[in-house]
Amino acid sequence: MSELDLLELRQVSRQFGSFKAVDEVCLTVRAGARHAIIGPNGAGKSTLFGLISGTLPATSGSVLVDGQDVTRLPVDRRVGLGVAATFQHSSLFLRETVLENVLLAVLRRTGAGLGGWRKVSARAATVEQARTLLERVGLPARHEVAAAELSHGERRQLEVAVALATEPRLLLMDEPAAGMSPAETARLTELVAALPGEVTVLLIEHDLDMVFELADTVTVMHLGRHLKTGSPDEVRASAEVQSAYLGSVEAAS
Ligand code: ADP
Ligand code: MG
Repeated sequence: MSELDLLELRQVSRQFGSFKAVDEVCLTVRAGARHAIIGPNGAGKSTLFGLISGTLPATSGSVLVDGQDVTRLPVDRRVGLGVAATFQHSSLFLRETVLENVLLAVLRRTGAGLGGWRKVSARAATVEQARTLLERVGLPARHEVAAAELSHGERRQLEVAVALATEPRLLLMDEPAAGMSPAETARLTELVAALPGEVTVLLIEHDLDMVFELADTVTVMHLGRHLKTGSPDEVRASAEVQSAYLGSVEAAS
C-alpha cells in the first residue's frame, strides 16, 4: 500500500456456505481516483462493496481505509472514517420529503442530533447545507415533495445527495445508472464528473459508456476473482477481459 492509496483490500473473501462470492481479492484504490469495477452479473461486485461499506462481514482477509484496518468495524464507524455508499436498492425514507432525507444525513454526520437541532442558528445552517447539496445533484425545485414522488432518476440523485451529506472521502456507487433513461444517465455522469477531487469514487456500473467516460482506472471481476486492473484503454484491449466479460455481454445481447 502506498501513502496515496485510500482503500486497500488484502485477499478479502466472502463465502455463502461453501460458495465463494468474493475470492481472495486484492485491490488498491488511489486517493482521488475515479475507479470503476465491471464484470458479468454474479461476478461478486455488490458483495465486494458490502465488504468495503461494512454491510457484510468478510469471511477472511482485510479491508484498510487510509491505512486503518476496518475489517471488523460496523457500517456507522466506517461512515465516520469517510466511507459512504449509494446502494443498488434504494435506501431512502420514502415518506419524508427530499429535504428531510438530506437533513437527516447531515444531522447524523454533525452529530448535532436533535439536541443541537433545537438551536435556531444550527437549524438554519443545516438546512442551508442540505439545500446546497440538493442543488449540486440537480434537485433544486423538488425539496418539499415526498421522496416517494420522485422519478427513478431523481431518487438516484437524492441518494447521491444523502451520501455526500456524510462528507465522504470514499463514495461507493453500485450501478447508479440502473433503470435510468439516457438523459438521466448523462446527468448523473456529469454529476459524478463534477465531484471534488477529494472525493474518491469507486463505481460499479453496467453502462460501459459511463464507465469509459468517467473512470481513470477499471477493475474487472469474474467469478468472484480480481481478473484485471488497468486504464480504460488497457482493459478494453485485454483479450482476457474480452473473453470473460465483453464477449459474454455481446453473447447475451
Ligand atoms: P454482482 O454484483 O457482480 O452481480 P453479487 O455480488 O451480487 O454479484 O453476487 C455474487 C454471487 O454471490 C452470485 O452468485 C450471488 O447469487 C451470490 N450471493 C450474493 N449474495 C448472496 C447471499 N446473501 N446469499 C447467497 N448467495 C449470495
Ligand atoms: Mg450487483
